[in-house]
Order: sequence, then structure tokens, then C-alpha cells
Amino acid sequence: MKVGFDILKSLNLRHRGVNVISCPSCARQQFEVIKTVEVLEQRLAHITTPMTVSVIGCVVNGPGEALMTDIGFTGGGRGTHQVYINGLQHHRLKDEGIVDHLVGLVEAKAAEIEAAKAAEDSEAEADKRSPAAAVS
Ligand code: SF4
Repeated sequence: MKVGFDILKSLNLRHRGVNVISCPSCARQQFEVIKTVEVLEQRLAHITTPMTVSVIGCVVNGPGEALMTDIGFTGGGRGTHQVYINGLQHHRLKDEGIVDHLVGLVEAKAAEIEAAKAAEDSEAEADKRSPAAAVS
């Protein structure tokens, strides 16, 4: 079932859970991109909220990708990396505990998105029950 969703997700046909975008990595990477993404995807498998996260090895592509994702992570020099939230620079992060930190951010973001969706749904439900109030 997960494989099916992954295929649809990659084709942009159905989006469930976290879509992690990463670079292929190369000698310029400032942290271990492939290993980090592998572990991160396993740790985020329980999240069903649609969301995009970019995990990019260096500033060549990191800031650009982060602009289009809910949470972005870009490798920086001297073991100090950059975290982006909603495309904006948010805070720096050292080498230690990258995955734990990103999992915490994604879980918090998922809770925020679900709360906003629940509020929207209950507002729409209230509008349905009293259509006159929705017009005014
Ligand atoms: S973003 Fe940086 S680390 Fe990743 S492939 Fe491009 S140059 Fe290499």
C-alpha cells in the first residue's frame, strides 16, 4: 500500500505523508545527505499529513529548494546548517541530532496543519448549518 502511495506521490497524483526532496549529494555536501534522508524517511513514516521537506547537501541548491517546501534543511560550512520554515530562514543547526531535530519540526508542523484543517472544517460545517450567517 505504501509503495502505491509513493508512486502516486512521485507523480504528484496523490499526496499523503511527508514528501522528502533531496539532492543526489556530491563532494560538496556538508553532511551525509543520503544516510540522513534514509533514516529521516523511516522516522517520518507515521506522519500522514501532506507536507514537503527538503534535505539538501549545500547552498548550491538548498535555499532554492527550501523556498518551495514546508520545512527545509541545507548543509552549511563548519558543521553549521540552516533550517527553513515555510521557505524562510528560521534557525541554524549543528551537526548533532539532525534527524531528531527535523522529526520534531515535522511533527510540530503536522500538528499545526491538522489543527488549521480541523478549524476550517468546523467553520465550513457551521456555515452549512446556518447559510445566512455565512453570507453576512
Ligand atoms: S546541492 Fe550541493 S551537495 Fe547537493 S548535489 Fe548539489 S552541489 Fe552537491
